[in-house]
Amino acid sequence: MKIVKLPFFPKNWAMSFVGVIWCGDKSWIGEHTINHETIHLQQQKEMLFLPFYVAYVLEWLYKSLRYRSFFRGYLNISHEREAYLHEKDLHYLETRRPFAEFKKENRRKITINRAK
Ligand SMILES: [Zn+2]
Repeated sequence: MKIVKLPFFPKNWAMSFVGVIWCGDKSWIGEHTINHETIHLQQQKEMLFLPFYVAYVLEWLYKSLRYRSFFRGYLNISHEREAYLHEKDLHYLETRRPFAEFKKENRRKITINRAK
């Protein structure tokens, strides 16, 4: 996946959008982050992109209220749970089932901070 640095992006941020990883600094992006963002790309393709972004933002708002934290809300978005749970498995996408982010096995609550 192509990685593009944006000068106005926070240095420790990366996001997958329209098949590109957008970030503030490329130096920390390793294979696990690329895998994480590639999992998001697969999720986006399955949901035909726009519905993915709408569902993502709505779930983030809902989970932020539920967990009383924007960061904990973000970590527990269905799409993020799947990506965080499987980002270290570089072969995950070879066996991933469609819409796996909504499957029971990916509903585990994420509570740890991410060390990049
Ligand atoms: Zn993510």
